[in-house]
Amino acid sequence: MSTTDAALDHSNHAFKGLIAHAQAYGFIYPSSEIYDGLQSIYDYGPYGVALKRNLQNFWWQSMTQLHENIVGIDAAIMMHPTTWKASGHIDGFTDPMVDNKDSQKRYRVDLLIEEHAMQLVAQGKSTQAKSLMEEMERCLATGNLPGLDELLERFAIVCPLSKTAHWTPVRQFNLMFSTQMGAQNDGTTIYLRPETAQGIFVNFLNVQKTARMKLPFGIAQVGKAFRNEIIARQFIFRMREFEQMEMQFFIQPGTEKKWFDYWQETRKDWYSSLGINQEKINIHPHKQLAHYATAAVDIEYAFPFGSKEVEGIHSRTDFDLKRHEHYAKKKLQYFDPDLKQHYTPYVIETSVGLDRLVLMLLDNALTKTDDPAKRTYLKLPAPLAPIKAAIFPLVKKDGLAERALALFNALKYDFPLIYEETQSIGKRYTRQDLIGTPYCITIDYQTLEDETVTVRERDSMAQYRMKIAETAGYLHAATHIKSLLLQLKT
Ligand code: ATP
Repeated sequence: MSTTDAALDHSNHAFKGLIAHAQAYGFIYPSSEIYDGLQSIYDYGPYGVALKRNLQNFWWQSMTQLHENIVGIDAAIMMHPTTWKASGHIDGFTDPMVDNKDSQKRYRVDLLIEEHAMQLVAQGKSTQAKSLMEEMERCLATGNLPGLDELLERFAIVCPLSKTAHWTPVRQFNLMFSTQMGAQNDGTTIYLRPETAQGIFVNFLNVQKTARMKLPFGIAQVGKAFRNEIIARQFIFRMREFEQMEMQFFIQPGTEKKWFDYWQETRKDWYSSLGINQEKINIHPHKQLAHYATAAVDIEYAFPFGSKEVEGIHSRTDFDLKRHEHYAKKKLQYFDPDLKQHYTPYVIETSVGLDRLVLMLLDNALTKTDDPAKRTYLKLPAPLAPIKAAIFPLVKKDGLAERALALFNALKYDFPLIYEETQSIGKRYTRQDLIGTPYCITIDYQTLEDETVTVRERDSMAQYRMKIAETAGYLHAATHIKSLLLQLKT
């Protein structure tokens, strides 16, 4: 096995281990698993939903609480169908796809070509890989589908399953899910939103007027989005139903460079506060920009399957508001009281996938030690951990269980906790390590004498005694979302 093959094998193994961990310990399950699942749709289990909500709250608070000029909304998933005409999704939200006639498998051409380019790099043929990628990007930017057919042929790109190059012509495939509203046969076709951003644009004037916002100001939203991805894979990285957290920041035209730089820095800062290994974060500026955009970067994380986008930051000019003005025949302008004039604001957008963040956090957190104990634990930041502390009586008898339950009942109003009284303390610690609980608190015989408990830390495994009365303050300081918010520059 070559060094590259060995590295790929190791990454595959690591990713399979991550998926198995997420499923086995109550984070993420395949949807409707008893019916063998539904491709690329997933459900969150007890610890997964808590992790996802904590992450979402952290994002929401960092946007709407730390910035006095950002407010939130919650728009509906179903929107007037003209929204998607105006946004360009009906005509242009497509991916190029191709079918292999032998394996009957469908692929997204750009991903197929990208994978081939990566293989070329691994074989030391970087120049070929570069020219392949450049040619592909030119074809994609100009909608040149026969050009993509030609690239598949010229580079002898084969189906990973059948190993043949027996391809259908490349076709465009619209990614929106449609459904009928009203009577089955004469109802209107509407779409499940493929992004949350349009709910913000169509509410721009409502929010500006009713919340009395002055430019610059932002509107934040968290919600489900749906895309009929041609090949959905890599676990929760590419799903057909997923959650986005988007913020559109409306600004005076001419200030876009300043605000684009500001949001790039602010968002980078947010990732370091999550304790993500910064070597795994990559800022990827777009070379090919959409015709209306003035700048765009992706924030990428080095997943086991490669460095991939988790968030996009885009400078979108007044494109979206102008399109809605045109289709809705309504002015979507702002009256600037300082300049005493009306204009259509420009927009800087930050758009992040919540599920991709969960995957990033789990990957970053899953730790296996090399010591003889071969301990596995999830090193999640304590404020994001699903459970903040587990409360154990050392043994059930001699009144220890009652004391432990009393502590559980006193703390449960402030913290998500687990109470556990069965099995050895060692096994109970292991179980909490696997779901990322940062603290375990044990009531033992000494508690009955001096009102102290043993606190055990997940990462260091250090144990120390603490007065029962101090536990609430201690957990609050260590696990409150505020400790993450305080790390952010505002
Ligand atoms: P990709 O190139 O990976 O398909 P994109 O550029 O189409 O992503 P955007 O339209 O910019 O993605 O959406 C913003 C964010 O939404 C992405 O950065 C990503 O985190 C998330 N996202 C997009 N598509 C999916 C999906 N199918 N599953 C999970 N998250 C997604």
